[in-house]
Amino acid sequence: MIFEEKRKIDKLRSEGYGCTAISDMLGISINSVKSYCRRSKSKKEKVVVRKSSKSGCDFCGNALVHTEGKKKKRFCCEKCRMSWWNHNRDKIHHRTLFEITCRYCGEVFKSNNKNRKFCSQKCYKDWRCSNAAK
Ligand SMILES: [Zn+2]
Ligand SMILES: [Zn+2]
Repeated sequence: MIFEEKRKIDKLRSEGYGCTAISDMLGISINSVKSYCRRSKSKKEKVVVRKSSKSGCDFCGNALVHTEGKKKKRFCCEKCRMSWWNHNRDKIHHRTLFEITCRYCGEVFKSNNKNRKFCSQKCYKDWRCSNAAK
């Protein structure tokens, strides 16, 4: 197919004409119009995928190479992944803090261990003492 024909097809397609109408208007066989449409369409889709998957490493910001169909990567390498987790470990723990009422003094405290029952070692000892006295 010559360049002039391709350009005409592109123009008609951008105006919303289907493959059949284009083949009629230009006098090109429907099969070559269709195969050209298919080829140029897949080319366009590829560009979109490349654009949308362009994002940097969460830790260092380096460009990431995503493999199509696979889960998106967040880090460029294992080292960045580990460093990111080390940096954000505190934040992650803050999110999973439990609010616990101290069994001895009744004060509400926060802990990442939901099985804790006392706000401090002192309360635990005092509770033990007062219970033992009974
Ligand atoms: Zn990185
Ligand atoms: Zn307490």
